[in-house]
Amino acid sequence: MSEHDSLDRVAAEVSACTKCILHKSRVKAVPGEGPARADIMFIGEGPGFHENQQGRPFVGPAGQFLEELLAAIGLKREQVFICNVVKCRPPGNRDPLPEEIEACKQYLDRQIALIRPKVIVTLGRYSMARAFPNEKISRIHGQAKKVEGIVYVPMFHPAAALHQPSLRKTVEEDFKKLPALLAEIEHMQDEEPPAEVQQLSLF
Ligand code: URA
Ligand code: SF4
Repeated sequence: MSEHDSLDRVAAEVSACTKCILHKSRVKAVPGEGPARADIMFIGEGPGFHENQQGRPFVGPAGQFLEELLAAIGLKREQVFICNVVKCRPPGNRDPLPEEIEACKQYLDRQIALIRPKVIVTLGRYSMARAFPNEKISRIHGQAKKVEGIVYVPMFHPAAALHQPSLRKTVEEDFKKLPALLAEIEHMQDEEPPAEVQQLSLF
């Protein structure tokens, strides 16, 4: 990341990007949105139909559910940063391909470096794989873990959970752990113990 990088710059580059095949079928690129100083960053998979039309992340049914999950812990979507692993819609909502994820990685890396969120919540398999490449979401969902200085919490994707009652309950419960986790991280940062003795007691 250069000294002069900014979220606006990332968004402008994304909007003009032709680094992978997904640029050919997009209507609008979806860089992501939220405050530059967000404490929590959510990373989904890729834009769907509605996101591709509007150029904004999570504005369809999955987005509505995400907003409900946020409301249940007292947050509005404007208070968090929301983005995706790939910034352009995979045709027909197919899974993003490894080469597309790789081509798009620099944008997400720069967003993370600029925002430096306290917590990154990964939604679904593809964003989880950034931090936990060989893990299974069914095993590690809801568990906070520090990777390269950032606390990650993997969660099921809201689109998957929306229509499956058992997953829905799991996602709701995982979300409810976020306020205490944030408070714990803030407390640790206030005390500033040496990095090696920092432990997340709650998770
Ligand atoms: N699903 C995603 O993964 N991202 C969006 O932006 C919308 C739906
Ligand atoms: Fe560029 Fe990412 Fe869009 Fe591919 S998905 S064209 S890498 S912005």
